[in-house]
Amino acid sequence: MSTSVIVPAAGSGVRLGENRPKAFVDLGGGRSILWHTVSAICTYSADNWFDLDRIIVVVPADLMVAARSEAQRGADEAGRGTEIVVVPGGAERSDSVRAGLAQATGDFVLVHDAARPFTPAGVFERVLEALRDGHPVVVPGLPVVDTLKRVDETPRVVQTVDRSVLRAIQTPQGFGADALARAYSQAGDTATDDAGLAERAGLPVYVVDGDPLGFKITTPWDLRLARTIAKGLD
Ligand code: C5P
Repeated sequence: MSTSVIVPAAGSGVRLGENRPKAFVDLGGGRSILWHTVSAICTYSADNWFDLDRIIVVVPADLMVAARSEAQRGADEAGRGTEIVVVPGGAERSDSVRAGLAQATGDFVLVHDAARPFTPAGVFERVLEALRDGHPVVVPGLPVVDTLKRVDETPRVVQTVDRSVLRAIQTPQGFGADALARAYSQAGDTATDDAGLAERAGLPVYVVDGDPLGFKITTPWDLRLARTIAKGLD
């Protein structure tokens, strides 16, 4: 079954505090976060984890040329002639994914944050396996380890939440091609992840095991961790 991967990389990365959009931040050796993410996807596909149709990278409009060369370098290094399509993103993450969706081909579409460069092959495999089993929408999730409390504006604790029924959701989020189109059919609808739109469209969302290495680079601390991991990959 052929698969497209949409890689939203059009975020500003304000929380990271670097002077460039997050996907273009260097993790060492001249390799950006985007390079690592594209390279990992191409490596997994070259290792026959899945039949990759194309990667659609969604970036800020003024960085399309830079993104193409960065993504192509990542794909070439993985040693496979993967087609890279680059499109301009939008103000919200959902707008960016919607722009990418217009270029998607194949039976399945994965949406994978550029900001998660170290997601292991096993997570991709679990998501695709569940899609092949017939689940229309599949997300990787991790049990929540910290105690969670609801607070008011003071902030004072209102309630301790039962964490046993909660999962921290990662990407790649997998969709049958029709399911993603249905999730995104309401123009202007936004959510912090794609499965959120699928839920609203009434689609069942199935959860497989995520992996701590699939963390999203968001804060300066995450960036330090990512640079340490990238050094270990050399
Ligand atoms: O902002 P957040 O960290 O949740 O973003 C997750 C992913 O979505 C990142 O890879 C980011 O570049 C991307 N994004 C996007 N377009 C936006 C906002 C975020 O492609 N407008």
